[in-house]
Amino acid sequence: MTGHTAGRTAPGGQAASPAPRCPACRGTGSEPWARARDVEYRTTDEEFGYHRCLRCGALFIDPMPVDRLSEIYPANYYAYASEEQSFVHRVKDRLDSLRLRRTLSRLSGDDLRILDVGGGDGRQLDVIRALDPRVTFTQVVDLDPEAQARAVERGHRYFCGRVEEFSTDERFDLILLINLIEHVSDPGGVLDRLRRHLTPQGSILIKTPNTDSLDARLFRHRNWGGYHCPRHWVLFDRHNLTGLAAERGLAVRAFAYTQGAPFWGVSLLAAAARRGWVRVSAERPMTRHPLFPPLAAAFAGFDLLRTTLGGRPSQMFVELVPVPVPDSSDASP
Ligand SMILES: [Zn+2]
Repeated sequence: MTGHTAGRTAPGGQAASPAPRCPACRGTGSEPWARARDVEYRTTDEEFGYHRCLRCGALFIDPMPVDRLSEIYPANYYAYASEEQSFVHRVKDRLDSLRLRRTLSRLSGDDLRILDVGGGDGRQLDVIRALDPRVTFTQVVDLDPEAQARAVERGHRYFCGRVEEFSTDERFDLILLINLIEHVSDPGGVLDRLRRHLTPQGSILIKTPNTDSLDARLFRHRNWGGYHCPRHWVLFDRHNLTGLAAERGLAVRAFAYTQGAPFWGVSLLAAAARRGWVRVSAERPMTRHPLFPPLAAAFAGFDLLRTTLGGRPSQMFVELVPVPVPDSSDASP
């Protein structure tokens, strides 16, 4: 798993790409923003470069480790993600459920179809089915064959592969991209593709990190947890995410900031590990450190308080709907 050497970034060296193109807006101007390591899973000791697009302000990793998925998503990655039971996760699930309930209430009809991209073993779709009995068809797109077995057992259809490879004749009333869009190499292409899978009343609900946040600034050069380095490839703020959506024919129906407790937890533990105060290893990801749950709980509270006071914590929800395309036969000359 480790021992892989990247051609273009030597540890501590400079990224060799001459002018990396922004994966969000395709702009060519960018500035080096930060360098970071995989402090969370320790899949490699290598340092990765993040750039900031001068045109849209999105942050992106360069070079993008597209051919190293099995290395940077270790076997325990999915296992740990599927068994998170901590207090903070229950709070997070509760908040996400409130958001989902609001979104579902806008849908009409008795035969709702939901797609969860990056939905793992279908746990989130279970929650949705429980929230709304009108949900009759549920589909997961994800990469993990073990999760596939569990999802199918739970009655969800499963496509095992990347969202870019997913193709279907189905149309969906709700497509979930919960902590997903930051993981893909071409976020605009993914939005484009998914927009075509929406029913006329359908919407896409995205949850993704927000780079315009206190912790993103404080930990910019200190392995900010939001980099989830090297697994988050493109990172947004409200402005450039909604701008990208608009370019792809999607308008914002709802927007909200939400707590970024896991990013605070990882950022702070990484800082403590650098000083030798705590030990982390490849066998135990940082989120399994005994100090992680209390840190995350404290900062979930901190972020939620700030949100009520108009602050902008480090995650955001945005619900997107297709912009009606004017009928070209009506167009005046
Ligand atoms: Zn850009």
